[in-house]
Amino acid sequence: MQILDGKKVSQEIKDSLREKIKESNRLQKRVPHLAAILIGNNGASETYVASKIRNCEEVGFKSSLVRFENDVLEPDLVSAIEQLNNDENVDGILVQLPLPKHINEEKIINLINPEKDVDGFHPISTGKLVQGLPTFIPATPFGIMMMLKHYQVETSGKHAVVIGRSNIVGRPISILLNQNTNPGNCTVTVCHSRTQNLAAYCRQADIIVAALGIPGFLKADMVKEGAVVIDVGITRVEDPSKKSGFAIKGDVDFEQVAPKCSYISPVPGGVGLMTIAGLLQNTYQAWLQQVR
Ligand code: NAD
Repeated sequence: MQILDGKKVSQEIKDSLREKIKESNRLQKRVPHLAAILIGNNGASETYVASKIRNCEEVGFKSSLVRFENDVLEPDLVSAIEQLNNDENVDGILVQLPLPKHINEEKIINLINPEKDVDGFHPISTGKLVQGLPTFIPATPFGIMMMLKHYQVETSGKHAVVIGRSNIVGRPISILLNQNTNPGNCTVTVCHSRTQNLAAYCRQADIIVAALGIPGFLKADMVKEGAVVIDVGITRVEDPSKKSGFAIKGDVDFEQVAPKCSYISPVPGGVGLMTIAGLLQNTYQAWLQQVR
């Protein structure tokens, strides 16, 4: 069994980006600039945004954070996005989800200039992804694909089972694994909350991507010998032994499942870190397109 080490792979990607930025600094070019919009004070969202900003700094990107209170009015959010769309010095814009209930998430995402849509959530980005055209791939599926590529995991002709069909993870990774690319060329089954006999599908899978958000959901008896297991889940579970008061749990019962796998990604230390690498890559791509 080999661990798909998100820490190691994401660090390599970041090191390579840092080198490229050093070179543009030498040429006195402006550096990539990611702008994040954060609304309210949801603990998990705060942590994610802080980590994105910290990682931007680590590779030499510029970042800015636009913050709003939870009761922000939609027009104020709209004008903040329009301002960032029109700012020639901003390459990537991300709006940290989830948004407060009174804000129309779809409307807000649709406002982001697709050329700056580094989260890849805009319908234009999604449409291009479906057609296999170059675009911003949502950071988590992008990170998973980079991880599979790094470890040269054989995917062609394999049966992949994706658990979850969200727009940010399940659906895009099912499309990517199915495309005629390497990694790719899988036969993909997408399971979801209404799937009957989910365990039977999983037992047939060469590759399982667990992205449903139920800690420890995937058990050893649902996994065949030699399977590749990618754990996307991130759930905060109360843990008084931790300083923060919580532990981060994945969707896979790692202890039980790992011995049966050829490859498995841990939580933490797996897909979460690759997601950051995916976002940085997208921001770098957006910048390349703007400064060219
Ligand atoms: P979501 O809630 O939008 O979607 C969950 C999906 O799981 C749905 O499609 C639903 O049909 C399916 N599902 C729910 N219960 C199920 C069940 N019992 N059996 C089968 N399918 C079921 O969630 P999401 O945004 O896709 O996130 C999924 C998980 O991945 C969460 O834990 C989230 O925190 C995590 N996540 C991690 C990263 C990362 O960087 N590692 C990024 C995004 C999301």
